[in-house]
Amino acid sequence: MTKYIFVTGGVTSSLGKGIISASLAKLLQARGYRVTIQKFDPYINIDPGTLNPYEHGECFVTEDGAETDLDLGHYERFLNVPTSQANNITTGRIYQNVINKERQGEFLGKTVQVVPHITDEIKRNMRILGESGDYDIVITEIGGTVGDIESLPFVEAVRQFKWEEGNNNALVIHLTLVPYLAAAGELKTKPTQHSVKALLEYGIQPDILVCRTEHPISQDIRRKIALFCNVNINAVVESIDAPSIYDVPLLMYKEQLDKTVLSKLKLPTKAEPSMESWKDFLGRLKNPTSEVKIGLVGKYVELPDAYKSITEAFIHAGAKNECKVRVEYIPSESVFADNVKEKLGHLDGVLVAPGFGSRGIEGKIDAIKYVRENNVPFFGICLGMQCCVIEFGRNVLGLTGANTTEIDENTPHPVINMMEDQKNITEKGGTMRLGAYPCDIKKGTKAFAAYGKQHISERHRHRYEFNNAYLAQYEAAGMIASGINPESNLVEIVELKNHPFFVGGQFHPELKSTVANPHPLFIKFVAAAMEQVKKKATK
Ligand code: GLN
Repeated sequence: MTKYIFVTGGVTSSLGKGIISASLAKLLQARGYRVTIQKFDPYINIDPGTLNPYEHGECFVTEDGAETDLDLGHYERFLNVPTSQANNITTGRIYQNVINKERQGEFLGKTVQVVPHITDEIKRNMRILGESGDYDIVITEIGGTVGDIESLPFVEAVRQFKWEEGNNNALVIHLTLVPYLAAAGELKTKPTQHSVKALLEYGIQPDILVCRTEHPISQDIRRKIALFCNVNINAVVESIDAPSIYDVPLLMYKEQLDKTVLSKLKLPTKAEPSMESWKDFLGRLKNPTSEVKIGLVGKYVELPDAYKSITEAFIHAGAKNECKVRVEYIPSESVFADNVKEKLGHLDGVLVAPGFGSRGIEGKIDAIKYVRENNVPFFGICLGMQCCVIEFGRNVLGLTGANTTEIDENTPHPVINMMEDQKNITEKGGTMRLGAYPCDIKKGTKAFAAYGKQHISERHRHRYEFNNAYLAQYEAAGMIASGINPESNLVEIVELKNHPFFVGGQFHPELKSTVANPHPLFIKFVAAAMEQVKKKATK
């Protein structure tokens, strides 16, 4: 029988519910349990695919092509188990399902209401992964903060769920903030007390409190919180600010969060969690023997969450290479032909980011011209790959005005063109080429050296693609297609023959990088940047 853990948040947002959920899941997994995490988001969009990255951070794409919340990226990076559409549900999706059922006559004669119809649909979705039989424990993170109007139906559904399943089968972990008042020199428990009261008003007694804090929480304060919030003292867990999110599982182990959870769910603790490879990763992460500076050229750089998976992939690949990767965020709009050396000259590698629309695209192209001509390692992802095709077309092949039809519909040289099956699509939500597709790698290429195999699969999110009418010209001039989709013939990877590292991927490799499996292209890119450092030193 599957057991359920709900994670709610109080006091403020950004307390790290996603990281706590992923850390707990990691410990339970390391004890031999099959665990998954799902996120329920209270906003009305059907999914975050149509949201601006400035609003919501990166949109994380799953194997099955769902556009989801970036927390799913953390779940995958920690657990090394893929998630799917079922792992991310929004208010919009819940209402859409209920309204569709109403139109089909499923509730004939009844008034359709938040309770019970919406809450029933929420509970049905909360159980889908548990009922698959694939998991012993399902952790459900409720987005937003308790008390928000939007999240009320989810909180009510948790109350009903817990009542239906019984205390040994479902529990609630509530995350709160214990702020430090510098003037008083004290940690304050009142916000935690109030936020637990808010939960109690909705009929939920939390079982465990995870208290986010900047300073250690003393036994006295733990006792006070336990007393005022009706929990055992061992159910008051300190979550202290950590240097890296990857430290949190070990901090939670020290606080015995996993043990407390298992005892409340009446599950055996099994073996102590085997965290050896995790510790090995942390050891490499914290003891680098070299350092590289990589520029991330993109249009959403003011909000680093917009490139979350890329940043994390650098952390994994850096640890693998025992190299500290310093990522410098460079707004593509600020790069021009006449300042590009000043902007990029000090870097050991440049990554040109994914994106949509015209803002900043010429800056990306200028950046690519510079790194191509100066033998600086380059990695282009999705729009970044498309830009390197445009740059090569314009400046090497002499295709004046070459462009992607996303930016210039009337370009004389549409080297990047809308995919055939996208041309008749009018709706914007969930209609791109999404999710995992196979790709065949050509032997003897840099891509092959990275992957070490011929058949791979990567995740996608795009509408435009390399125009195969130009392929022969490109290959003759030294830009080769080293990865091709075997079914549709779409070009998935391009690279330059005569360059230390110049690779562009139409897919998003960052989405598949995990602590246990750093992505091979990121590993090679970081290694190329390390070579660049050595080259500079010998000059
Ligand atoms: N805008 C481009 C396309 O739709 C690239 C998308 C991306 O970078 N994810 O093809």
